[in-house]
Amino acid sequence: TGPMTVGDLARLLRREASEVIKKLMSLGTMATINQEIDVDTISLVSEEFGAKVKVKEVIDESAFEELEEEDTPEELKERPPVVTIMGHVDHGKTTLLDRIRETKVTAGEAGGITQHIGAYQVEANDKKITFLDTPGHAAFTTMRARGAEVTDITILVVAADDGVKPQTVEAINHAKAAEVPIIVAVNKMDKPEANPDRVKQQLTEHELIPEDWGGETIFVPVSAVTGDGIDELLEMILLVAEVQEYKANPDKRARGVVIEAELDKGRGAVARLLVQNGTLNVGDALVAGSFFGKVRAMINDRGQRVKSADPSTPVEVLGLSDVPEAGDPFMVFTDEKKARDIAEKRIEKKRQKELGASSRVTLDDLYKQI
Ligand code: GDP
Ligand code: MG
Repeated sequence: TGPMTVGDLARLLRREASEVIKKLMSLGTMATINQEIDVDTISLVSEEFGAKVKVKEVIDESAFEELEEEDTPEELKERPPVVTIMGHVDHGKTTLLDRIRETKVTAGEAGGITQHIGAYQVEANDKKITFLDTPGHAAFTTMRARGAEVTDITILVVAADDGVKPQTVEAINHAKAAEVPIIVAVNKMDKPEANPDRVKQQLTEHELIPEDWGGETIFVPVSAVTGDGIDELLEMILLVAEVQEYKANPDKRARGVVIEAELDKGRGAVARLLVQNGTLNVGDALVAGSFFGKVRAMINDRGQRVKSADPSTPVEVLGLSDVPEAGDPFMVFTDEKKARDIAEKRIEKKRQKELGASSRVTLDDLYKQI
């Protein structure tokens, strides 16, 4: 829901701008005619003038959340945690992700070789964990910049032979800003010059105090090369997940986020999605970013075709009309026409933004029903 100017509102209410300004003042808001006021204020002022403002969903980034049905506690089921790996360059993020995947994806399984779909799931102690394997901080930061909250837990990788570096601190700040729990993986423990105590000492300065030093942060010594400590790391992830109780409702239409998307020569628009709530099914009509699509086929992280994907599951989806952006939200609509309408409106809105049109909503927008 975007703002509109005092002048716009006055016109809408068929009042002089000065009257509206006066009313605003009486409500404690000082504003000039060209000033933008938010929707709450608009409603308040309008009511003062005896007009009812029907603010229907204005299509913006957060609109999907507003469209989602609330879940009752009984409908909520446990879902796997979604984990992101962050840390300084060369501290072993990629190696760790590869190691976890190799050790935990059973080789005997059909299609045991994982394919890259931006995220993968492993099983430990009969529970699933979803790892985002989009490189570097990109996944986390671009998605967050777009307002998508994807990560439940962050693994902060710090090389024991190198200690805390600028990107380590950056990662801590991102995780803190997002209020995401941090587990520290002290990596490269196989190296003779490994000095885990120095890592602990340095991180203490950033308020990450190890449990054995009286703090609350879990530190796990690992080696992404030898595989030492990987099982413990996964156990700690499950422990945090148990405490945090991540839940979702698998019995409704799906909503989630685009992890990656690209145009494939043979297959058309390919979108890698993370289902965050509900269950995504082949045949579902969805809007991702500003694009409409019908899920033609879904492929899981083992390269297998699947018919459905429940909460925290990453899938590759074919059938979108165009390529959405990483971090774009997606949502399934039971009504295909509605899905098309919404996609069209989002395209229009995007176009206006790109044309440099001001961010204020038009009067039409305010009354628009979706
Ligand atoms: P990233 O930039 O954080 O993704 O780091 P990489 O995973 O690319 O690792 C950087 C270098 O460190 C590579 O040469 C890895 O082989 C090496 N490396 C990563 N983990 C370990 C480890 O646990 N032990 C040792 N000895 N080397 C490691
Ligand atoms: Mg890397």
